Amino acid sequence: MPKNAANDAKRNIYITRQQSLQLGLSFYIGEKPCKGCGYKKPVRYVQSCNCVNCQSMRYKGEG
Ligand SMILES: [Zn+2]
Repeated sequence: MPKNAANDAKRNIYITRQQSLQLGLSFYIGEKPCKGCGYKKPVRYVQSCNCVNCQSMRYKGEG
């Protein structure tokens, strides 16, 4: 088994918004770092594109 297979498998856990839409998922992994929270691979809502982490922090702030 080639060593690269492990790296490919790791990459495949990330899913684009297009793929999530096609699969009917609610979340996807952003390809670009989030400006709000600084996460390099932020989880985002497919519908709104909002970062889940930023949105949860916002809710906490409003209490
Ligand atoms: Zn964020």
